[in-house]
Amino acid sequence: MMNVPFYSLDYVNRALGDALRESFSDVLDSKWFIRGNRCREFEDAFAAYCGKKACVGVGNGLDALTLMLKASIILGRIAEGDEVIVPANTFVATVLAVRAAGLVPVLVEPDPVTCNLNVQHLQEACSEKTRAIIAVHLYGRLADMPAICEFAKAKGLLVFEDAAQAHGACGESYSSNAAAYSFYPTKNLGAMGDGGAVVTDDVELAQVVKSLGNYGSVEKYVNEFVGVNSRLDEVQAAVLLAKLPHLDSWNKRRQEIAARYCAEIKNPLVRVTLVPANPQSHVWHVFPVFCETRDDLQMFLKGRGVETLIHYPIPPHLQQAFSGSTSRGELRHGKLPVAERLAKTELSIPMGPSMTEDQVSYVVESLNAYAR
Ligand SMILES: *Cc1c(COP(=O)(O)O)cnc(C)c1O
Repeated sequence: MMNVPFYSLDYVNRALGDALRESFSDVLDSKWFIRGNRCREFEDAFAAYCGKKACVGVGNGLDALTLMLKASIILGRIAEGDEVIVPANTFVATVLAVRAAGLVPVLVEPDPVTCNLNVQHLQEACSEKTRAIIAVHLYGRLADMPAICEFAKAKGLLVFEDAAQAHGACGESYSSNAAAYSFYPTKNLGAMGDGGAVVTDDVELAQVVKSLGNYGSVEKYVNEFVGVNSRLDEVQAAVLLAKLPHLDSWNKRRQEIAARYCAEIKNPLVRVTLVPANPQSHVWHVFPVFCETRDDLQMFLKGRGVETLIHYPIPPHLQQAFSGSTSRGELRHGKLPVAERLAKTELSIPMGPSMTEDQVSYVVESLNAYAR
């Protein structure tokens, strides 16, 4: 039997251990730990990497989402109480951010094949109160952004991206208002603690996000906005600076593993639905398979030493946290059968640049050996 962890940093730490230790001692020697040169350097590097004008480092991905929305309210582009469309099968943070900004989340069924928003469902979800869409690039797969942006333009809506799982995914060009990233340690680009960023071509928006993350102040002790404390610290920025040049090669390795999974997993009980038309547009933050007897499959794989996770077992609208709310958002139609089905059938199998070919073969073999 082989043990295959769901995700491991072995390879990354081995390849970059010395560089990372050097980063730590540089920060230590600099004696400057917050809002220093490394944060600015990383912001410039990540903006350039994303092909955008501005990047603002913040404390985590949830804050990146929240501050991007709050800044849009401050700038008068949306207003408190406006409806924001969010896919119903997202990680809870997307919904929490909308609520935290005083906006109303409207949960919309995803496309059952891509697991992302599609324009037909957007059309059905729009009301006269809808002012924005948050596209979540779930599992690392870019949502159909050209179509979503075109739809939004026709309706006069803003488009935001939750790109927390999609660092480096690229497709046809499109223009959103801003994208929020997380650098949680297990993301495709991960720090050694919490971190996040807002990336945008809207320089004005970036300035307000920056100020909001620093108590709402640009000039020390002068507070323009009701802000929070949410900053990317120097240690995290240094780690991210050391890792960023390797992101593309790590994503490429994920794409190679995914290509093998897509070609070699052959079991009528295990569906692989996410084969992308353009391989670059999917960076496989996780590799999901779908199975009617998901819990049984998970136990079977565990018995063979293959670790798996579920993304996500309970969709946001069924979480107790939102049970008291009566807004159109959370209770839309009362039921979201596609999102609920995905939650019941999804299983994420091992994925990441540390995986060896033997491990990939073993995971494939194990999935193909599953029977009822
Ligand atoms: C990880 C993640 C977040 C939140 O990021 P944190 O840094 O953990 O706050 C938000 N949205 C999605 C889709 C994520 O995967």
